[in-house]
Amino acid sequence: MSFFKKIEIQTDKSSIIDVLGKVERIKCLIIGSGPAGYTAAIYAARANMDPVLYQGLEAGGQLMTTTEVENFPGYPQGVTGPVMMEDIKNQAERFGADIRWGLITDVDFSNRPFKLTSDEGVNIEAEIVIIATGATAKYLGLESEQRLRGSGVSACATCDGFFYKNKVVAVVGGGDTACEEATYLSQLASKVYLIVRKPQLRASKAMQQRVLTNSKIQVLFEHNTLQVLGDAKVTGLELIKKQGTPNEETIKIDIDGFFLAIGHHPNSDIFKKYIQTDEIGYIKTIPGTSKTNLPGVFACGDVQDPVYRQAITAAGSGCMAALDAERFLSGL
Ligand code: NDP
Repeated sequence: MSFFKKIEIQTDKSSIIDVLGKVERIKCLIIGSGPAGYTAAIYAARANMDPVLYQGLEAGGQLMTTTEVENFPGYPQGVTGPVMMEDIKNQAERFGADIRWGLITDVDFSNRPFKLTSDEGVNIEAEIVIIATGATAKYLGLESEQRLRGSGVSACATCDGFFYKNKVVAVVGGGDTACEEATYLSQLASKVYLIVRKPQLRASKAMQQRVLTNSKIQVLFEHNTLQVLGDAKVTGLELIKKQGTPNEETIKIDIDGFFLAIGHHPNSDIFKKYIQTDEIGYIKTIPGTSKTNLPGVFACGDVQDPVYRQAITAAGSGCMAALDAERFLSGL
């Protein structure tokens, strides 16, 4: 017998590990662990698809940095983001989903089964792949901003706006998201500052109009944020006006909440060679489905959703991906 003969082991999850070559064959591989990935895992596990889920860099996704979640159905008293993600993960594991720490670092989708590599060097061959890698909100990169994340600094007005009823908030950004978030917050807060680095907004004309005619929103053009002020929670902002000009001026404003709306980065980079995305990087799916341009690869959650970006819509699209994948594997 050759010393290098491949040894195949049947695991309890019915994936097959080729020990010497370290190739693991998986029926349904889910990449990403937000509400989309975990929900796909619940449905796939209940459909006997033996899902294996790689959690990625931030296990649990964006909700792990959220405090209170009050708009996810089924939690009448609200729930914290981390507890909710643990609940959904436990639900998937209850049905046998194999949920692992680790990253998928490389993919080769040129043929089925699809070939992928984990950060631990495990080579995977997957019959189908569900991409649920999410999107990452962009931050300004200030030390004070990172320190106060979850204590007055947020990247989601729909998630956290409710906590600023009759308070003063600021939104930074000049695109459609910033205008939409400022408009949304103006229905709750007593005043909204919109901090825009250029002398004009980038948002669509309709959205600009809505902001500029809203008496609760004050747009601070040509302002940049130097510092978020506050020790345990946000109390204000230090801003610089007309930076780099003779009229440069530093000002302070009092606020209770600071919302980032300077764009998101969809986590699709490693798939772009094979999977169609839009110009920002959001994966394109066939409308009304989770199917990508590549049969056998499905996408759900924020990595394919530039519009809604909610935990509940991500969970819904995770369900769609598992159902689409199940039909694909059945040859339907
Ligand atoms: P955008 O990239 O369109 O806008 C980002 C904004 O943030 C810009 O105004 C940009 O300024 C500003 N910005 C970026 N970096 C910094 C920084 N470091 N400091 C200060 N400001 C900064 O992102 P959006 O999320 O707004 O939109 C993404 C896409 O989604 C767009 O295509 C948009 O149209 C779409 N969208 C559509 C909606 C709808 O139709 N309802 C709702 C939301 C988004 P600058 O202009 O100077 O570059």
